[in-house]
Amino acid sequence: MTLDDFNLSKANREIINNLGKNGAFPHTILIEGSTAEKRADFAGFLANMILCLSDGKKPCGACKACVKCAANSNPDIKIYGEDKTGASFKVELSREIRQDAFVLPNDFDKKVYILNGVQNMNDSSENALLKILEEPPGFDCFILTCESKSAMLDTVLSRSSVISLGETDRDFSPDTVETAKKILLSLTGTSELKTLEALAELHNKKDRFEDTAECIKTVLTDCVKFKQTQINSSVYGDTAEALCGRFSVNKIYELIKIISELQRRFKQNANYNLLITSMCAELCGATGK
Ligand SMILES: [Zn+2]
Repeated sequence: MTLDDFNLSKANREIINNLGKNGAFPHTILIEGSTAEKRADFAGFLANMILCLSDGKKPCGACKACVKCAANSNPDIKIYGEDKTGASFKVELSREIRQDAFVLPNDFDKKVYILNGVQNMNDSSENALLKILEEPPGFDCFILTCESKSAMLDTVLSRSSVISLGETDRDFSPDTVETAKKILLSLTGTSELKTLEALAELHNKKDRFEDTAECIKTVLTDCVKFKQTQINSSVYGDTAEALCGRFSVNKIYELIKIISELQRRFKQNANYNLLITSMCAELCGATGK
């Protein structure tokens, strides 16, 4: 099995190829889209890639780790969910995983947890899992699979590198990209005025809000991947670079959370111009202006 067997966007393919090369995988990967079977296959493929001992192309198919993966007997890959239990994730399972996560790997220097079908998790099991995703031991990787990332809590999402299967890159209009970049770059400066100016482009333009907010989140999510992997594969490269140079990964998570909350309020028909005003205040507040 190779990466070509999976329907990935160019950016995701590049990220994974590079991860294979330098071995710096993010702690949490969320796979969405396509079918449950494909997602589980891809999770297994990534887990093999993470554990492969080769210095060259991963998975090599020949090393001790790869041989064990091929025989489905790698003790450092633990699979939960869908095909194993068929039931929804209970909070007890999240707690069990959390405890196990602190146990050193058996044979290799990393341990991979595959949690299939995490859309079946309820909020309390997600929150229990979140505790370990927030500060996992250095040797743990978590690969979550779900139908759609929209089923997950924002707090879990913000800690995950999301890989969508069978989905082409989302294209935003040039205007949307420009406004989103302007808003984000204004946050790297010291003056609130710049942010105010950038957001003025959305005033009285309710139809532009959703795309712009989504584009901002896309750039910020790219920044998280950049921070986690040291690889800047974002199509918004320069903006991602500027943001990553200025903010910690926690700060970037905080910004994603603010945008998600604003999107929620937008959907509930909050007073629009007031929403843009508080967008300015909240983003500036979070970035110390
Ligand atoms: Zn190998």
